[in-house]
Amino acid sequence: MEAALPRRACRPIYRRMRLPGTLALLALALASCGRRAATRAAPEPAFDAGRARAEVGWLADPARTGRGVGTPGAAQAADWIAARFREAGLAPAWDEGYLQRFEAPFRATLGERNAFAVGSSHGELERDFLPFDFSDDGAVEAEVVFAGHGITAPALGHDDYGGLDVKGKIVLVAQDFPRESDAASPFRDPRHYRFAEWRYKATNAREHGAAALIGVRDVWAEGHGGADDLPPWRGQVSSRAGIVAARVTAAALARAGVDVRALAAPGEADGKPHSRPLGVRARLEVRVLHERATTANVVAILPGRDPAVAGECVVVGAHHDHLGLGGDSSLAPERLGTVHPGADDNASGVAALLAVARAFAAEGPPRRTLLFAAFGAEELGILGSSELAQHPPPRCPTERMQLMVNLDMVGRPAAGKVYVDGADTARGLRDLVKALAERPPRLPLKLAFGEGDGYGPSDHTSFYARDVPVLFLFTGPHPDYHRPSDTPDKIDGAGLAAVARLAYRAAREAAERDGRLEVVRTASPPPRERGERGYGTYLGAIPDFAERSAPGVLLTGVRAGSPAERAGIAAGDVLLRVGPTKLLGLQDLAFALRSHRPGDEVEVEWERAGARRTAKVRLEERR
Ligand SMILES: [Zn+2]
Ligand SMILES: [Zn+2]
Repeated sequence: MEAALPRRACRPIYRRMRLPGTLALLALALASCGRRAATRAAPEPAFDAGRARAEVGWLADPARTGRGVGTPGAAQAADWIAARFREAGLAPAWDEGYLQRFEAPFRATLGERNAFAVGSSHGELERDFLPFDFSDDGAVEAEVVFAGHGITAPALGHDDYGGLDVKGKIVLVAQDFPRESDAASPFRDPRHYRFAEWRYKATNAREHGAAALIGVRDVWAEGHGGADDLPPWRGQVSSRAGIVAARVTAAALARAGVDVRALAAPGEADGKPHSRPLGVRARLEVRVLHERATTANVVAILPGRDPAVAGECVVVGAHHDHLGLGGDSSLAPERLGTVHPGADDNASGVAALLAVARAFAAEGPPRRTLLFAAFGAEELGILGSSELAQHPPPRCPTERMQLMVNLDMVGRPAAGKVYVDGADTARGLRDLVKALAERPPRLPLKLAFGEGDGYGPSDHTSFYARDVPVLFLFTGPHPDYHRPSDTPDKIDGAGLAAVARLAYRAAREAAERDGRLEVVRTASPPPRERGERGYGTYLGAIPDFAERSAPGVLLTGVRAGSPAERAGIAAGDVLLRVGPTKLLGLQDLAFALRSHRPGDEVEVEWERAGARRTAKVRLEERR
């Protein structure tokens, strides 16, 4: 109801003046409802450090089960946040309510039809073989070819597939790399550790045409002696690698007459590949089920009071989910089954978000619309923020977002230090943030400007990828990160409240200022994006992290001045191939980039509006 807007706008001005009696009435009568009055410096609403700590305590209580997607605590947390918004007098972002529900795959389980046989010897699941979590579903029966450590590294003078035909066959490869204990081994350079990763080996096998991969521990290597056991199934949801793949034990192979120690011996002696067909057949069948759970973003809205700009909006966000009972993202993998409370990550951000929301609710609406968003499923790959950026509420479309402020881990400022990323994503934003922190009362914070661009391992990436200027506030890493020891007693309530105040000032400034913040697509040195980690090879394609069932890598953007941009690739395109590597998903993009060196010219294929395009690009070096 538009007519109500100016009337509502006068209320906060009156309240902020705190004048007695007739003076107040006079002030009310004189107050302009337009922008001039609104930008006047006014006492800020209080930010309650004790309340913030208490809220972190509730969210990080063991009863919330670590707020893992698919656990009861995550749903409780979402409802609780919605109740806090309601209590603050903030309206739901949708007519249907505060919750934006979406599905996220949260656990992988082994199906019933997992089977392995080599020669005439049948293996037993979890004793003799165990599918890799990234395996495709399927059944393969074929000849087995030993392919060393499964490594193709021309730059290091090593190719386990050289002269080997593995098309349609099952390759047997060993864990890690040749001559592990040899200090002179080029594979001991951390830049080449990826050759020891199972997923790399599986993708490399697929790229060579193999139908399946079986991997065995390098039981002969020093320090691995006798370790022929299989790790427990961890239930991690991984993207599929495009090949059927499982670990098998050396003991299971030995029952069929395959002696892996003998196979490995020549390579261990001279460091060279000694791959060969084994003259034995195997059968591998894998079924990995991805269980999905419904989770939700919790979003409240405060409609702007100035009809001229109320169609524009500012988003303040923080993810509410955490790791639940541990799992693949836990840095304490041995504590699987233990609640990971996530007090700093990211109960602190939610408490700060609620403090900011209450401050705006108390002050009354600024000129532009405010959106307060608690995201779900960040830990599974910024899924919630991706959902909101793709399906925003009608009153806050992505293209009219003026600024997104992300709060992720803001409860433990060491000596007042807060990292500010994204400060170069809009013209003048960096200076603005500095000025806001200095504005009286001066905030007890030391700003540390990090990556100037808007890409990082948290929810702001979903917005910057869609050309929304962003600020990411973060009080820094600590030894309790992603561990069961990230508990509420370690939260600094006053520090958290100060960060909330900075977020509030930035959001209010963006919501009140005369002009729009003008997004800057940074061409600054690119950070290591997820999905594009290589040893220095850079394409500049920015993948969408949302779940995707069709093959290919959907792009939310390309970096300004990057090889991808020069090739004519743009946001919305789906990358299908880089060089010879077909891209089924994000992991394949990483594989493809790692397979090349800066300066290599490769053909890239992509799809736009149903049409395929190709171009040659010269890969660059990450600066
Ligand atoms: Zn986080
Ligand atoms: Zn986290």
